[in-house]
Amino acid sequence: MIGTEKLALFGGTKAVKQSQEGLFKWPIITEEDEAAAVQVLRDGAMSGTDITRKFEREFADWLDMKYGLAFNNGTNSLLGAFYGCGVGVGDEIICPSVTYWASALPAYSLGASVVFAEIDPVTLCLDPNDIEHRITEKTKAIVVVHYLGHPADMDPIMEIAKKHNIKVIEDVSHAQGGYYKGRRVGTIGDVGAMSLMAGKSFAIGEGGIFVTNDLEIYERAIALGHYERYNQEIQTPYLQPHAGLPLGGYKFRMHQVSSAVGRVQLKYYDERIGEIDKAMNYFWDRLEGVPGLRAHRPAKNSGSTMGGWYATHGHYVPEELGGLSVTRFCEAVRAEGVSIGPGCNLPLHLHSLQQDADVYGHGKPTIIANASRDLRQPKGSLPISEGIAARVYSIPWFKHFNTEQIDQYVEAFRKAALQYNDLLADDKGNPERLGGWNFFRQKA
Ligand SMILES: *Cc1c(COP(=O)(O)O)cnc(C)c1O
Repeated sequence: MIGTEKLALFGGTKAVKQSQEGLFKWPIITEEDEAAAVQVLRDGAMSGTDITRKFEREFADWLDMKYGLAFNNGTNSLLGAFYGCGVGVGDEIICPSVTYWASALPAYSLGASVVFAEIDPVTLCLDPNDIEHRITEKTKAIVVVHYLGHPADMDPIMEIAKKHNIKVIEDVSHAQGGYYKGRRVGTIGDVGAMSLMAGKSFAIGEGGIFVTNDLEIYERAIALGHYERYNQEIQTPYLQPHAGLPLGGYKFRMHQVSSAVGRVQLKYYDERIGEIDKAMNYFWDRLEGVPGLRAHRPAKNSGSTMGGWYATHGHYVPEELGGLSVTRFCEAVRAEGVSIGPGCNLPLHLHSLQQDADVYGHGKPTIIANASRDLRQPKGSLPISEGIAARVYSIPWFKHFNTEQIDQYVEAFRKAALQYNDLLADDKGNPERLGGWNFFRQKA
């Protein structure tokens, strides 16, 4: 296993001998999850909040936070967090451009706008050095995404936020259970919101949750879309007179099959992501020193971790591989029997919604409908975000520490990297657009 066998792309034997579904299957569902889900159905309890409230309490306790508020999806947990932080008409939030859209877009429905900032090319998270010059008197919040499992550099971001008296919202959808310098991600900012959707590492079905220590954030989010909980128990004085109707006209309640399964998943989550962490670190340790490839993970013994390693990716350094495109590299790895690809999320600032779409009939683009200045960010304005797709690729997301199987995947990457010279001949380069959804319309 040294990466010198003939590439499968050129007729050699595949490094991955047979597909290993058990290695990747997620979430892990046992009879305990099944019993919990069936019980909800038998009790006709799908639409209540009794189980969800238990889940919220247990989830918040897990992270040592005062309040947990469950939502029907992660997108609405972010909308609730935005409103909770006071984001309103004419306000601005700062968010990285390279992320899943729900980190930012719900702001528009509150009449606010999004200002996109660069990512750090190493962490792939919001670059602390690209925030401060974007802050204006309209800036209400910074959205930090622990992107692809990697904790964002929170210390300098919290310092900036404190200095300017603005809120920090953590989007933890990729990193539930991860640590930043010994602290759980999601507990450092003013509120930590996240998806618990079936594809995420904390996977319970459609669902989301936020955690906070701030009663006002918690109660504002209840007022926005948790109608039957917006009652006489609300303590925030200015919210009390309006109880009884959801102020946003939204309904955010979580399906209780999700919360029931969530309670079971939570019991085993730390142990299960511990095994993922062991498997993923083993994979990267085995690739240490291979040219062109770098792990996307925090330094060992830094107190920071990758949580459940959601949507695992690696860094690509084409300069070390004779300029070989990541597209061609991935083609060779795929031929070895590994289903991976180049790129990550496309930068949001280039989509037409951030340029010219008039969503609400303002007679002008939504992004500037209520803004005090032109916030549109044209092509070329965020070069790192726009170029990152050529320097990253997905890697397998191992759920089990099975070294014999993982070694085969290691070999696939090693073969392609070490034999890059043979791949250069037919390298057609990267397409204009890499990664993301193919129906995402980018403005020229
Ligand atoms: C998945 C995701 C969301 C949205 O969560 P849903 O549960 O799908 O609504 C928000 N932010 C990020 C970064 C995500 O990956």
